[in-house]
Amino acid sequence: MCDTHEQTGATGAGGYPSFEECVTFHGHVCPGLATGYRAAVAAMQALGVARPYDEELVAIAETDACGLDAIQMVTGCTAGKGNLVVKDHGKHVFTFISRENEKAVRVLVRHRDTPEYSEMNELRKKIVTGRADAADHERFHELMHAAAERILTAPSDEVIEIRDVDAEPPAKARIFASVVCACCGEQVADAKTRLLDGRQVCIPCYEAVRSPGRPEAG
Ligand SMILES: [Zn+2]
Ligand SMILES: [Zn+2]
Repeated sequence: MCDTHEQTGATGAGGYPSFEECVTFHGHVCPGLATGYRAAVAAMQALGVARPYDEELVAIAETDACGLDAIQMVTGCTAGKGNLVVKDHGKHVFTFISRENEKAVRVLVRHRDTPEYSEMNELRKKIVTGRADAADHERFHELMHAAAERILTAPSDEVIEIRDVDAEPPAKARIFASVVCACCGEQVADAKTRLLDGRQVCIPCYEAVRSPGRPEAG
């Protein structure tokens, strides 16, 4: 594991979990995790908040990719606690809302074409199609580390853009209210339902009716 993050504040400065802790949680080192880490730490600093134990901080993520694990680890906004909302728009954008000081920031991850990416993409294709040998795997691993390292050590404004925004945190009560889907009869969080002909239904039921020809996600 890299031990060169000391100077960059990536070792958990300010009481935040370190990048290494995020790696343990996530399972591997990758650029996505590194950008998520930078976004999370920058947001916490901009909002002037510590890691919450409850729901003082809410995160809205517009991606469900790797970076999300660093967001959860660093900010304490987790899928299980209800203070993490994932709207997968396929955008590396995260909004953080502090209930405590009523501030909100929107963090945009800047696209950076690091020298590693083109080779990484080629290797990824080989790996997912089962054509990669041990040397390919090792090289891929090495490139992932190098790209992550580059992100962790770059000046913040090269990695992310941070904007103050007005954002209303989702009401606490709504997170826990559950209703029965009018279609499948399964319990579903109120906040996640869609209206279908005036009836509250879960998202899978809604999508089955609205876009039956849609291929399975993933
Ligand atoms: Zn990853
Ligand atoms: Zn349903």
